[in-house]
Amino acid sequence: MTDPLLYLDGVSVSFDGFKALNNLSLMIDPGELRAIIGPNGAGKTTMMDVITGKTRPDHGTVMFEGNTDLTKLKESTIANLGIGRKFQRPTVFEHHTVLDNLELALKNPRGVFSGLFYKVSEEDRKRIEELLDITKLSPKRDVVAGGLAHGEKQWLEIGMLLAQDPKLLLVDEPVAGMTDAETEQTAHLLRAISGKHSVIVVEHDMVFVRELGVKVTVLHEGSMLAEGSLDTVSANQQVIDVYLGR
Ligand code: ADP
Repeated sequence: MTDPLLYLDGVSVSFDGFKALNNLSLMIDPGELRAIIGPNGAGKTTMMDVITGKTRPDHGTVMFEGNTDLTKLKESTIANLGIGRKFQRPTVFEHHTVLDNLELALKNPRGVFSGLFYKVSEEDRKRIEELLDITKLSPKRDVVAGGLAHGEKQWLEIGMLLAQDPKLLLVDEPVAGMTDAETEQTAHLLRAISGKHSVIVVEHDMVFVRELGVKVTVLHEGSMLAEGSLDTVSANQQVIDVYLGR
């Protein structure tokens, strides 16, 4: 058995006495792609906030690579350890081309302007080609990002995060507003990057979660309700009750 890349152990977060996370424990393996589902208010965003250091838990630890407790670290330190986060809405540099966006992300992960003085090496060019390839944006390399379709912007932003070679990527509802074809392509992209990167994806769209075909964790009231394949968790009576609001 391999050691987990990420291990949330008994994590609780309260807001004015209300428990957004309640003794949540969760393990993610190196290279694993995991889907997190659960009704609104289940604690999914709070869980991502705890992992990235935006929210500090009242109890519990979040161990990364075995011996680093993320709950003790600043957001910027956590990002530098190789944890990237993609929010629901795409954020790309709209007036720059796809190629420039990837170049900027590669040159200067967490700021823009110092990157302007950096020279792109042969190795960088190779990496950019790989990113264009994996995101299927090669034909759009010279298009300004503002002119891309919604799905393409999301893939570009994923490509920009990959430029930083994260060990763990957190992705929040990537397929909201996508067409069926874009949704399928996104599942393909996330599957393609797993193995090399661990990915946690929070999503409501069950067609997409089915296409991912990976282990699913169901959160409810800040705790884990069920874990397993989508078929297994969808047959769980407690999960059915929660989704039907019983
Ligand atoms: P999800 O992402 O699964 O919809 P959230 O993690 O956003 O759930 O929220 C879990 C619960 O915690 C919700 O009831 C929400 O209203 C509450 N909550 C989240 N953030 C805050 C906050 N900053 N202050 C007060 N309550 C919050």
